[in-house]
Amino acid sequence: MKSIINEDLNEFATKLEADGFKKFNARQIFEWIFKKRVYEFSQMSNLSKKLREYLRENYKIEDLKLNKHQVSRDKTEKFLFELSDGNLIETVLMRHEYGNSVCVTTQLGCNIGCTFCASGLEKKKRNLEPFEIVLQVLKVSDITKERVSHVVVMGIGEPFDNYNNVMKFIDIINSPYGLEIGARHITVSTSGIVPKIYEFADRETQINLAISLHAPNDRVRSQLMKINDRYSIKEVIEASKYYVEKTNRRITFEYILLEGINDEVAHANELSNLLRGINCYVNLIRYNAVNEFDYRGSREVRANAFFNHLKRRGINTTLRKEKGSDIDAACGQLRSKEMNK
Ligand code: SAH
Ligand code: SF4
Repeated sequence: MKSIINEDLNEFATKLEADGFKKFNARQIFEWIFKKRVYEFSQMSNLSKKLREYLRENYKIEDLKLNKHQVSRDKTEKFLFELSDGNLIETVLMRHEYGNSVCVTTQLGCNIGCTFCASGLEKKKRNLEPFEIVLQVLKVSDITKERVSHVVVMGIGEPFDNYNNVMKFIDIINSPYGLEIGARHITVSTSGIVPKIYEFADRETQINLAISLHAPNDRVRSQLMKINDRYSIKEVIEASKYYVEKTNRRITFEYILLEGINDEVAHANELSNLLRGINCYVNLIRYNAVNEFDYRGSREVRANAFFNHLKRRGINTTLRKEKGSDIDAACGQLRSKEMNK
């Protein structure tokens, strides 16, 4: 049996037609699921009995079981969901002035193994299927009874190491018959898998791309991210420029500030030289300490000095306040403590 939430609307419509139904039935079914949030074929009252039977025989509508739910002081919420094979994943809802943003997990564990990241502590067990990523957004909206207007692909996993499933997920949530989340409201973050950055740019969509840069030179970056030995900063920057050219979109560079590692004014200087002339902005994030590692987030004065230096050098920059850090829900800091018990 196939999961219906894995289906692409057009392919599904063609399939239905080939099996003797109408193309527009696909749209009706999507509307039941994504608009009316009805998850039983038997309740889809405008479908013929024959179609409902066909659906019941060939498809299932999967679910995620809510295992744990935490709310932080700043109203950020963290959800621990159980997949049908028993694995647990985390999803975070952040509230902003501009709307609600959901941070999704894309893999069980992560093989990139950045030396500062809790998500990389567990080797990748498997990729998530498109429906398992879509359901995270759907369920958060159902549970909170609130609309989700933004999605960030910044939970556990490297999205470009699960490229096809993540693209399918994006197409489904972006579709007017799916969750109707605008392309400009969706952001994918990658550690810098260069060939996939080109492939992504060639889609020529308006989806935002964020690159985890974290260092202004190869020496520091390789110390933090093994992937830098495979794709150097120069290659990552070239690919980033290509994305900007192809899509006309501004690209984001994420830069976590680690005390004494990458947060000197000299680093800020080097960074501004590296990024000069690129239509980009730099998202500075003070690192959230993780028990297993010795790294510490930069002190406020250092973070501010770094920020001010970039500003003076004409680089668009924000120094972000992390949401939900009191419940370990800060993006990039997700890790299910339950799983380690
Ligand atoms: N694998 C992708 C997306 C998930 S991580 C990537 O690496 O881009 C999302 C962001 O959170 C990345 O920029 C990551 O480097 C950052 N991050 C990881 N651990 C963090 C921590 N403890 N504190 C702050 N940011 C962290
Ligand atoms: Fe994986 Fe991203 Fe964490 Fe690196 S920072 S280990 S790529 S999740």
